[in-house]
Amino acid sequence: MLDVTLVPCLSDNYAYLLRDPATGECAVVDPSEAEPVLAALAAMQLRPTMVLNTHHHHDHVGGNEALAAAFPGLRVIAHASDQGRVPAQTGAVADGDRVALGGTSLRVLHVPGHTLGAVTYASDDAAFTGDTLFLGGCGRLFEGDAAMMYASLQRIAEALDPATRVFCGHEYTANNLRFIAALEPDNAAVRDALADAERLRADDRPTVPKSLRDELRLNPFLRCDDPAVEAAVGVSGDPVAVFAALRARRNNW
Ligand code: ZN
Ligand code: FE
Repeated sequence: MLDVTLVPCLSDNYAYLLRDPATGECAVVDPSEAEPVLAALAAMQLRPTMVLNTHHHHDHVGGNEALAAAFPGLRVIAHASDQGRVPAQTGAVADGDRVALGGTSLRVLHVPGHTLGAVTYASDDAAFTGDTLFLGGCGRLFEGDAAMMYASLQRIAEALDPATRVFCGHEYTANNLRFIAALEPDNAAVRDALADAERLRADDRPTVPKSLRDELRLNPFLRCDDPAVEAAVGVSGDPVAVFAALRARRNNW
């Protein structure tokens, strides 16, 4: 199992330290800022060989330059189309590529919508979804449209084993679940998940990760063909239209 350490950054971001269990090789996913990531690496006596960026937004790449300076030879990987907007980028990946971290193979899924260069990195048991799939939600459509984002979320849902742990870019879970609870007041599973998330946050503990299986059950953006979600937004028959209506509601919530 891929060893993953959460590093809280900025107000609600997570960077992740990945360690391949076979070789100990280490990578950093989305260093939002350098300081907490460098401190976590030092505390664990880890020296990363690469940075994996899910997209170019500053709250995901803000620590790239400092990490590249601290670790000469560090590879900085992001989607090919993000070259020029990801600081210190050395490597370009595209959909279907695989990135090796020691004995762990990470698949690259190009999942445009939040941004056009958004990617998810997925091992057999962990996925790093950035601002595409959140626990209980999805990212805003800054560069893509509803059809694009819907297809990207479906791609993640279909490509990964349901037991995969989902590590997303932000700690938005409790608020996302409050939105779903308001949308579907009779959904007991959502109420339970909200209570769990609020309990964790009250103790200052992360809600991340959760399994893809949980997301398929709870996250309405992955249930655009669910009659309960169709009824809640008053649109039915076309999952992309349901998705668009849902995203608009979430934006205005
Ligand atoms: Zn973003
Ligand atoms: Fe973000």
